[in-house]
Amino acid sequence: MPSATPVPRGPSMLPLGSAAELLTRSGCPACGYVTEAGDRYLAWFALEAHADPDTITRLCVSLGMCPRHTRGLMSQPGAAVRLTAVCRYLLQAARKRLAGPGRRRLAACPACERDQDAAGHVLDTLLAELPAAEIRERYLELGGLCWPHVRAAAGVRGRRRAVGWVAEAAVASTADRRAGLDVLAGGPDHDAELRARLRAALPPEGRFPPGTCRACLAAARAELVALARASDPGRGRGPGRAGDAPGGELCLCPAHLRDAALASAGAAAALLARQTRYQAASLARLAQPSAWRWGGGPAGWRPGRPAPAAGGDCPMCRVREQAVQQELHGYRAGPQAPPVHGGPPPLCVRHVLALRAADPAAGTAAAATAAEHAGALIDELAEAFRKGTWAFRHESRGTEMTAWRRAAAFLDGDVFGGCPPV
Ligand SMILES: [Zn+2]
Ligand SMILES: [Zn+2]
Ligand SMILES: [Zn+2]
Ligand SMILES: [Zn+2]
Repeated sequence: MPSATPVPRGPSMLPLGSAAELLTRSGCPACGYVTEAGDRYLAWFALEAHADPDTITRLCVSLGMCPRHTRGLMSQPGAAVRLTAVCRYLLQAARKRLAGPGRRRLAACPACERDQDAAGHVLDTLLAELPAAEIRERYLELGGLCWPHVRAAAGVRGRRRAVGWVAEAAVASTADRRAGLDVLAGGPDHDAELRARLRAALPPEGRFPPGTCRACLAAARAELVALARASDPGRGRGPGRAGDAPGGELCLCPAHLRDAALASAGAAAALLARQTRYQAASLARLAQPSAWRWGGGPAGWRPGRPAPAAGGDCPMCRVREQAVQQELHGYRAGPQAPPVHGGPPPLCVRHVLALRAADPAAGTAAAATAAEHAGALIDELAEAFRKGTWAFRHESRGTEMTAWRRAAAFLDGDVFGGCPPV
């Protein structure tokens, strides 16, 4: 693989000439555009890009896509054949990385980057035209941007007044009532139902089925407990509860807010009311352009006190991260059970790499075991690929046909939410 990261060809962004084209249906115009662009991207991957060398090279530097987008790829028709081929390349890249010095950070998920580009495109177009009265009127009529996208708008340079107006409109629209989930968390989030199903299937405490990453499983278990607490109305609002900001308000990222609301329909109303209070306070700061400060250089004008990014201070994301660190600490601190040769290692590739970055001695031993397992999976994938070809289609099929799912879980255990790959 070449060392530079080429920019893959991609489906063109949907043509967007003016803000009027965005403001044609109710709901957040950015969410609508980003969802459509994201669907096109994944469809392009399935139809064409999975066999494109530039795309594969780009995927190898991030060792695939993020869990959410990987689940999207896995749910597409024909995923087994396609991902059997793609995962071979990804595992070869993973094995090389595990065997090498591994100082380079993994690149971001290319589909997430694409979503961010699409959102930037919409916000640029919209904010540039908001000074026009008819555009502002139409914007208000349709409900405007969701709140995560209002916060993202603060990152668009040179549109201080337009961002202030958008934030003011957002706060005013919910001055005397709570905002809905789509306003607070954006959306739609087609992955939320699958996350809930995976969470319900988590193995019980003390059990570690083969193929699960212990760090991913620890994160998922800690998250499950935190979600139950956040959506339990009987627990009050005492300090220190997962999901509480210092002032007692919730500050969950969009995905966790949706997860918490889905986890308990009975508690959703109270949860959303508290989230509205917290987010409205953060948007109110954006709505005061006079309080913005010139940051100079690429920073440009910034809110006087930065508005928290969506999820930047999410306590449930923190709970997950703490659980991972605690689990990895166990590998750093004490003697470990001897590696099981032939079976899947206890950490996914991402967490082996994280362990090695934190503790080279412990991480190097784990990386050697993981590289060995990557080699075994590559052989299985090669066999599954061979049996998938026309000439060998009549051969009986065995466990190698599910190697692509085990490979996805081995690259990132969070693809299956900490559950074993099935
Ligand atoms: Zn939105
Ligand atoms: Zn992604
Ligand atoms: Zn993991
Ligand atoms: Zn979160």
